[in-house]
Amino acid sequence: MTNNAAPPAETPARVEVFQLPTGTYETPAALAFQGGRFRDRRQFAATAVLVRHPKGDVLIDAGFGAHAEEHIRSLPAFRRSPHHLGATVSQQLDAAGHDRGRLLGVILTHSHWDHVSGLDSLDVPVLVTAEELRYAADSRGDRVFGRVVPGHDLRVYALDGPPHLGFPASHDLHGDGSVVIVPTPGHTTGSVAVLVTAGPGQRFAFVGDLAWQLDGIERGAQRPLVMRLLADSDPARVRRDLARVAALPPDVRIVPAHDARAYAGIPLLGA
Ligand SMILES: [Zn+2]
Repeated sequence: MTNNAAPPAETPARVEVFQLPTGTYETPAALAFQGGRFRDRRQFAATAVLVRHPKGDVLIDAGFGAHAEEHIRSLPAFRRSPHHLGATVSQQLDAAGHDRGRLLGVILTHSHWDHVSGLDSLDVPVLVTAEELRYAADSRGDRVFGRVVPGHDLRVYALDGPPHLGFPASHDLHGDGSVVIVPTPGHTTGSVAVLVTAGPGQRFAFVGDLAWQLDGIERGAQRPLVMRLLADSDPARVRRDLARVAALPPDVRIVPAHDARAYAGIPLLGA
């Protein structure tokens, strides 16, 4: 025993990840991934994620909001589908007694309606890339972002950090590697994925709509051709980023935004 023993290793910051499911909407599997059957219908999850961190909490996407019905009605007919609305992110935060003052903002994986609707009831900054703002401004069919974003403090960040886990650039939100945003410009021109490290066995890649269902990751099943053409800004880039995601270390759990199965095991807030 000696008096000048090395100080204990620095304890990593306590980071926790929660899921906040706000509802679902129905999509035939045939439209969700290549090889899916028309009769097999998939419930697309509209689930936000809360990452708690001592330096401040962030949400990843915002799910369905208080005015989701209105938002859905504003879409072109072919994009409306049967849906089920649950509690909004705002309601879930309040029910869990979450201190809103801890929220640094919402990181948007991209600006499509089913990821931003919940901003209508969240008075927090929106973290977004300049490229995605341009994409949203040019959007024709889906104008929900333009409806919900006025009044929000838009914090535009640059993906100007070093390459990260196979991605060519990054933005390390807290500077400690716990929440690292990487570019995945393909589904939309400013799409991102958020890589979260919450502790041993707790690594996640929230990949937004790079794939809609786990089938898109596990079997390398792309979106069906028609949906690639309709939904993706650049299908070749989506394919390239799917390959990067598939090459992530095996302990990183891949979470496509709309696959409820991918959230299994991530606790609900206040559960
Ligand atoms: Zn989506």
